[in-house]
Amino acid sequence: MSYMEHKMIAVTAPSGAGKTTIVKNLMQVFPNMAFSVSATTRPKRPHEVDGKDYFFLSNRAFKEKVANGDFVEWEEVYPGIFYGTLKSEILRVQSMGKVVIFDIDVKGAVNLKREFRERCLTIFIKPPSIDTLRERLENRHTEDAKTIQKRIDKAAFELSYENKFDVTLINDELESALLNSKKIVKTFFNLKLPL
Ligand code: 5GP
Repeated sequence: MSYMEHKMIAVTAPSGAGKTTIVKNLMQVFPNMAFSVSATTRPKRPHEVDGKDYFFLSNRAFKEKVANGDFVEWEEVYPGIFYGTLKSEILRVQSMGKVVIFDIDVKGAVNLKREFRERCLTIFIKPPSIDTLRERLENRHTEDAKTIQKRIDKAAFELSYENKFDVTLINDELESALLNSKKIVKTFFNLKLPL
């Protein structure tokens, strides 16, 4: 069976909207889902594990993979910093008989949707406001002030992508956002595909 024939879920949002929390929770609730580990050229954060959170690559190694056609999609998410979804990851997850879940930026999610159509449900997580987003990024203590400002500017732009996705989930109160995300995924799993 080709990897096109399986259901997939892409969770996207402006950075800091809480999508990683939602993705992790969905994987706990639905054991038939597994994470597609992306490749990136950004430096590893202290708590991250190579091969589990990301494949941390040099610029050169990343470019080689682009040239080899190893990515389904890739983006320069921040200036000079690249992220991409490896075809081999999709196949790895699907060969375990699992549904792939992606944690991906808005442009990447649009590209996955274009590629996989109705097989890939795209969920847009929306922060209640830009101010809340700033607070969350500051409380995470993983980025400096300049990086946070860059992410805020980018978020304002990314919010304009909302209508390109299948569903919007407002992450105001985490518990209800988690509950709603479960309902959305359950409904998608019950859909007969192709439509
Ligand atoms: P972070 O560096 O905070 O882990 O992620 C930064 C952004 O890159 C997030 O919006 C994340 O979802 C996105 N991202 C992670 N992996 C991929 C990928 O494979 N492709 C694309 N286009 N974006 C990704």
